[in-house]
Amino acid sequence: MKAIPKEVQEIGETLEKQGFEAYVVGGCVRDLLLGREPEDWDVTTQARPEELQKIFPESFYENKFFTVTVLTQSQNPKLKEIEITTYRSDHKYTDRRRPEEVKYAQTLQEDLSRRDFTVNAIALRGKEIIDPFGGQEDLKAKIIRAVGEPEARFQEDALRMMRAARLATQLGFFIEPKTKEAIQKNAALLQEISKERIRDEFCKIVMAKQAMAGIELLRELKLLSFIAPELEEGYEVSQNKHHKYTVWEHNLRSLQYATEQNWSLEVRLAALLHDVAKPRVKQGDGPDSTFYNHEALGSRMARDLMARLKFPRKQIELISDLIRYHMFYYNVDEVTESSVRRLIRKVGAEHMQDLLYLRMADRIGSGVPKAQPYRLRHWQYMIEKVSQDPISPGMLAVNGNDIMKLGNIEPGPKIGQVLDVLLGEVLEDPKKNEKDYLEQRVKEFLSLPEKELQELAKKARQERDQVETQRDETTKQKYWVK
Ligand code: ATP
Ligand code: MG
Repeated sequence: MKAIPKEVQEIGETLEKQGFEAYVVGGCVRDLLLGREPEDWDVTTQARPEELQKIFPESFYENKFFTVTVLTQSQNPKLKEIEITTYRSDHKYTDRRRPEEVKYAQTLQEDLSRRDFTVNAIALRGKEIIDPFGGQEDLKAKIIRAVGEPEARFQEDALRMMRAARLATQLGFFIEPKTKEAIQKNAALLQEISKERIRDEFCKIVMAKQAMAGIELLRELKLLSFIAPELEEGYEVSQNKHHKYTVWEHNLRSLQYATEQNWSLEVRLAALLHDVAKPRVKQGDGPDSTFYNHEALGSRMARDLMARLKFPRKQIELISDLIRYHMFYYNVDEVTESSVRRLIRKVGAEHMQDLLYLRMADRIGSGVPKAQPYRLRHWQYMIEKVSQDPISPGMLAVNGNDIMKLGNIEPGPKIGQVLDVLLGEVLEDPKKNEKDYLEQRVKEFLSLPEKELQELAKKARQERDQVETQRDETTKQKYWVK
């Protein structure tokens, strides 16, 4: 077992010196016993919040459920704030969201019995383990089991159903049959829980190592139809010759690949939802069935789904854009610079990598992946190529109008020639791109004989072509593209 950090230990010692009991409790004990790094640290005691605030001057109390947060000097973000909660028992949940009244409890035992799962109801004090509900055994057997009567516990607080699914997914545990049955029976109670809290648990599942199993579990528990019913529409919907799996399984496998690659939450959600519209647009059956426009409808469906779950606007926009454009065309001989440029304009240069990731997840998730790394590298090369600033007179600190004014001349070929020569100088030494200096040079070039200026301009254009070719070569080498 990993050690209890000294910050947490000191809090316990301080409380005991004042004559109170103190235990480390909840998820952190569970994680310690599993040899996992705890997310946060919780201490429980019979001392009341007012007393705790006196004992720990560096603390705050938001009057919520008897939890006082103690601030420590720790550099570790997980140890900067430690929560101490007074023994309590929760009573009479009427809206299944928050206890109507929270009461102080007299004993640790009573406090442990209000906790959700046996593995979360273990307390620790030094080497002493208090485990009245068999939490350690369930840890060994990898079981999530409700404390007490499962149905009653989920009816008190329906979020516990999401927590069961999330913990089982994160820990790779099974949900004990009675607990599971109670969730299936009471799944509809999820509708009374705040969307933000459902979203947070859902995202933790998507970010877990076994994300695919987690989404499958949500379906089995009948919770998914109250979170993302659109996803379930793909269940048992077969696809065409380009696919081995049903729409449902393909979405999940794409997510799983994104997870294994450790890609961002946004890419994972896009992978999970990218084909969500396929069941609604499917035409025909068998190997030649089609799914025209599933990306456009899917993008809208994902947007609605995420808005419902109160995802931040930026995330919604990125994910729905990724889905909207995930079918982008990238055949080496056919993709044009202008089509790549259009794509960058729509999705944003900073998101092209995510779009590529989504496409890779889609490809692997189809179960019939064709090896096409060259095509992907070529496409990356195209992105970088069109993203580079063009080498053009527009980069200069003076323009055609300036030249006409300086030389007091009419529009004509001379102006372009002067710009070409100036650009040649600036390419050689970018520091020269300075208005005063360039104006000086304009006067000098304009006073040259016509022929001489023409020659200089021609040479400058040739050199510029060389620079562009070199730059393109470097980019090609970077992506190993011929
Ligand atoms: P995490 O690893 O995400 O921190 P956790 O189980 O520690 O998981 P917390 O929200 O930190 O979750 O809660 C700490 C402890 O409080 C839990 O282990 C559990 O004992 C108790 N708890 C949390 N939420 C509930 C709930 N809805 N009903 C009953 N007990 C709960
Ligand atoms: Mg915790």
